[in-house]
Amino acid sequence: MILIVDDKQENIFSLKSILALHNFPSDTALSGEEALKKVLKNQYALIILDVQMPGMDGFEVAETISGYSKSKDIPIIFLSAVNTDKKFITKGYTSGGIDYIIKPIDPDILLLKVKTFYRLYEQKRQLNEMQNNLRDEIEFRKKAESEMNEKAKEMKSILESIPQIAFTTKSDGTLEYNNSQWLNYSLSEKEFPVAHPDDGNIQDEIERTVKSGKPLEMEVRVKMRDKNDYRYHLLRVLPVKEANNIVKWVGTFTDIEDQKQAVKKKDEFISIASHELKTPLTSIKGYIQLLDQSVDGNSSAKTYIDRTLNQIKKLNNLVVDLLDISKIESGKLKYNMQEFNCESMLTNAIEMMRQTHPDYHIHRRGNANRFIYGDEMRLEQVVLNFLANAVKYSPVNKEILVEVATTKNQIKIFIRDHGIGVSEEDQQNIFKKFYRVEKTVGNFQGLGIGLYICAEILERHHFEYGVDSTLGEGSSFHFTIPLYNYLAGKTQP
Ligand code: ADP
Repeated sequence: MILIVDDKQENIFSLKSILALHNFPSDTALSGEEALKKVLKNQYALIILDVQMPGMDGFEVAETISGYSKSKDIPIIFLSAVNTDKKFITKGYTSGGIDYIIKPIDPDILLLKVKTFYRLYEQKRQLNEMQNNLRDEIEFRKKAESEMNEKAKEMKSILESIPQIAFTTKSDGTLEYNNSQWLNYSLSEKEFPVAHPDDGNIQDEIERTVKSGKPLEMEVRVKMRDKNDYRYHLLRVLPVKEANNIVKWVGTFTDIEDQKQAVKKKDEFISIASHELKTPLTSIKGYIQLLDQSVDGNSSAKTYIDRTLNQIKKLNNLVVDLLDISKIESGKLKYNMQEFNCESMLTNAIEMMRQTHPDYHIHRRGNANRFIYGDEMRLEQVVLNFLANAVKYSPVNKEILVEVATTKNQIKIFIRDHGIGVSEEDQQNIFKKFYRVEKTVGNFQGLGIGLYICAEILERHHFEYGVDSTLGEGSSFHFTIPLYNYLAGKTQP
């Protein structure tokens, strides 16, 4: 908007018309005082200012305007009929004006000047805007940087205070910081600790992790500095994200050597104890069976012998499970892989269960009459284990269903009960070694190893498995056997 200041209405009218004709919006003031008020209130791109006015003259108005910080940059064009003298023209410039036009006005010249000033004003305004934006951007970045530095400082002081070896890397995996524990294991601040030759290379693992963008968790033996000893550590590396981008990685090595030693001792104990128990147990079983043959079938001794044999069977199962565990730990659990009929394996397991638990009703749905590839005894052990659990954890409702869903590519076996069920949280853990649901530990006997062995066997076969369960309503354990076209000569991997 252009402000026209003139004490004569007719001058204002003609100037306004010339500007309007060329699409320049304008505002008007009939005196210097009115002009000053308007300048303070509104935003103008240019002021056309008559020099000769009663009250404040044009020069005084210009001087006052250039004193206001808000308006000091507004260009002013003076209009004058009389002050053509060089002296007056100079006064016009020193009082803040930029140009000077002598009356009578030549509309073409006026317009030329207005256009130039208008364009200059626009450019200046845009420049100012850009400058302001730039300033804001710089401020913003400075603030973000100082916040980052603060955060980094805070993180370092936390990492310094923990007992673990801790480090951070840049987003590309290059080491950035390590705490004072680092040098107990590493030769320099720039190198990762050395891993046991059997456990891989830590630097390579970090590079793989950075590429994948996913957290790393691994157990690794790390060499102590200046010694030939290795200690087991749990290495965890997590990404630090900002606005969903990984900006760095934070890692820790936690010393788990003592736990590892304790677990090793426990495994050794289980292995020795189960072996030592197995021999006398087999003898006891043999003698009791001999005794069984020598007593009268109707005597009360026969009842006790049967009960004893039943208890021996339970004890034997426990010892066998413990032996299996120690074989799994040492990688010595052997698998006898071959083709066999899945249906007969399933029927055998169910029949065995029916005989030992005649009070339970084990129903069947679906047929598994297909040849599959695997260790028949071990897979039967899995079905027996699921069935034994279905019986054990369903003390009231004694209906159990074994359901088979066969498609062209797979056989899926479900063992469903209506027992106590497993909460969602416990479902995540029941396949882990020695895990037992805490609330039921007191009511049901067991060691928490049956499902762990099942999981091991199924994993070795590459069969999918799992559990669906609702607490208080029952559970459904299942596993899936992929089918291969044996006739076409394809065998399972
Ligand atoms: P154990 O039965 O000797 O405790 P398992 O490894 O066979 O050990 O099972 C682990 C835990 O899973 C059990 O302690 C029990 O809490 C839970 N569980 C297993 N099967 C069932 C089931 N059918 N119904 C409810 N809970 C079950």
